[in-house]
Order: sequence, then structure tokens, then C-alpha cells
Amino acid sequence: MIATMTFSKWFLWLVLPPILLLLASCAAGDRVSSQPAEVSPLHDPHPDQFSLSEVLSEVPLDGPTVIALGSVQDGGLPHAGCSCERCELARRDPRQRRLVTALGVVIPAPDGGAPAVYLIDATPDVEEQLHLLRPFRWQADEPSVGRVDRTPLDGILLTHAHMGHYLGLAHFGFEVMHASGVTGYCTPRMAAFLRHNGPWSQLVDKGELKLHETLPGQPVDLGGAVSFTPIAVPHRDEFSDTVAYLLSGPRRTLLYVPDTDSWRAWPRPLLELLAEEQVDVLVADGTFFSLDELPGRDVSSIGHPLITETMDLLAEEVSSHRVEVFFTHLNHSNPALLTESAARREIAERGFGLLNRGQKISL
Ligand SMILES: [Zn+2]
Ligand SMILES: [Zn+2]
Ligand SMILES: [Zn+2]
Repeated sequence: MIATMTFSKWFLWLVLPPILLLLASCAAGDRVSSQPAEVSPLHDPHPDQFSLSEVLSEVPLDGPTVIALGSVQDGGLPHAGCSCERCELARRDPRQRRLVTALGVVIPAPDGGAPAVYLIDATPDVEEQLHLLRPFRWQADEPSVGRVDRTPLDGILLTHAHMGHYLGLAHFGFEVMHASGVTGYCTPRMAAFLRHNGPWSQLVDKGELKLHETLPGQPVDLGGAVSFTPIAVPHRDEFSDTVAYLLSGPRRTLLYVPDTDSWRAWPRPLLELLAEEQVDVLVADGTFFSLDELPGRDVSSIGHPLITETMDLLAEEVSSHRVEVFFTHLNHSNPALLTESAARREIAERGFGLLNRGQKISL
């Protein structure tokens, strides 16, 4: 008990003020066209998931909002079986731990009722990530203790069938939540994979997951002036195809591309897509920082855009404040995970940012 009190006190004085500062700045509305990209003083990890959840919900949303729920590659940080500097640091200090990349989308109801809440990708960290979204889902006057919510979301948007992006669906199944008809938006190939392979087929058969097939290029209206459009993405597609999501709101348009082959493999050049779709915020695959991380490998053999390449490609868009860019899906090998690294400094100096858990981006 004493340890808990000391820890809470430490959290309150040391960590709460920067979080509140961050939230105030994020709640300030549309900054993209007039302000440089903001690099948060926070690291992705937070020592107390409960407190972050409460702090997040304290600032009322002034419209549809995207909430970052994680920022690393499928294996998380620390990474199973790895003893690299970053993984060992995260084991020694839980505050350095990072959750697998995912976004929440919260759409306030026009009548002041419960907002609609969506999740993009069901990661192995989904329990913690759902907890961050819970205060938005539940009304203040509803009891929050002793309750099992079998419909914690209005829907899950799935990008593809790699472990970091859909394994969390298992928590919606009979062994855990036994969800009640949560809508799973995905491509027809992803839907067929889930329908025809256990254990996912059991979620579909029991009505825990209700599949809603969506086609690349075709927008889906979520209400509240928010829609999403899946965009086909080149990636190693063993079990399903892969999509990115273009989220359009009344204020901004955000493109979420957590996992993709190099931009060079895109049939529609990224710069063209950003301009034509009037993208204000890009949350992009930042798996690897540079070739230094992959000794002996040729850049053309790497199945992801390097952060350095993306920064070169988008330098003009970012310096002119046309697009704000945040990197996510960082591999445990990425030097930018360390606060005091040259990689982290370079990202900040060039006006780019890393996605941070708890970060809010207005739509
Ligand atoms: Zn991935
Ligand atoms: Zn590692
Ligand atoms: Zn993948």
C-alpha cells in the first residue's frame, strides 16, 4: 500500500503536468496549416495505465478525435527472445515499455449521448488499449465498477492478418469477453481468412464478431461527418491483403499506414495521394530508422520504408506545414526508441514526430 501511494504521488507530480500540457496542446484544434509539427515531450510509455485513461477523458473532446494507443511493431517492446539495449531497458523499467501500434477513433454523439468508439487493428495489447478508450465509451453517470461490457466498441477496422494487427481479436472470443456482435471492418480476403480459419471462425460463428466487408477506394460513413476509406497497400500478403485507412472528419483528414512495403512499391505515388486526398496528418510506418540498423542489407530488399527515406520524401510537405507526420510501428531495433539518440534528435529537428500513446489528433 505504501509503495502504491508513493508511486501515485510520484506520478501526480512528475508525469501529470506534462500529460496535461500535451492534452491542452492537442485539444487546441486545427494547427496543421499554421503551426509546425509538434514533437511531444512525452515518451510513448506511461507508468500508470489507469491514470492515463482518466487523464485522457478529463478533457472533453471538441469533435471527432483520433487517439494513439500504441506505436511499435507487432512484437511490442520488449520483444520476445531479444536482449538488445532497448528491450533490456524496457524490461528493467516498465515505463519504457511500448504497446503495439493501434488507433482509437472517438466520434461524439450530436445529442450529447455516448460517443461512437472505433479501434483500428486488434493488437496483442488490446486489453490495455481498450482500457484507454473505456472512459469515452462509458457515460460519467454509469457505474464503472463490476461491469462487463460485451460491446466495448462500435467497430474494429482491420488492416491485415499479421500478428500485431489482428491477434487481439482473440480477446473478443468466448474465453475472454464473449463480445456481442462487434463489427469487424475488413477486405473480403481478410474476411474469408477469419471465416475459414480457427480460432477466428469461432468468433464469427458465435456472433461475437460481425464481419463487414469493405473495398479499397470505397468510403464508409461512420456518422458525425466521419468516414473511412481503405487504401490497398503493397505488403507481404500471405493470409490476407493489406490496407491503410484514410480517415476524414469535419476538420482534418488523417492517413494511417502502419505497415507497408517501401513507398517505391506504391502504384499511386505517396506525394500524389497526400495532395489529392488533402491529407493533413500522416501516421506512417517507421519500422526501421536507417540502413545502419540492418547491416549487410540492400535497401531494395527491406520490406518497409526507412524513416530517413520518408523524411527525405516528405521534407517539403513537412517544412511547408502542408502535412504533419508521425511515425509508428517502430521495430525494437529502431534507435529512435531511445530518447537521447541521434535518430530521435534528427526526427525532431526535421519537423517530424513519433506517435505517442495517449496523443490526440482532432479529425
Ligand atoms: Zn506489423
Ligand atoms: Zn530488442
Ligand atoms: Zn504486416
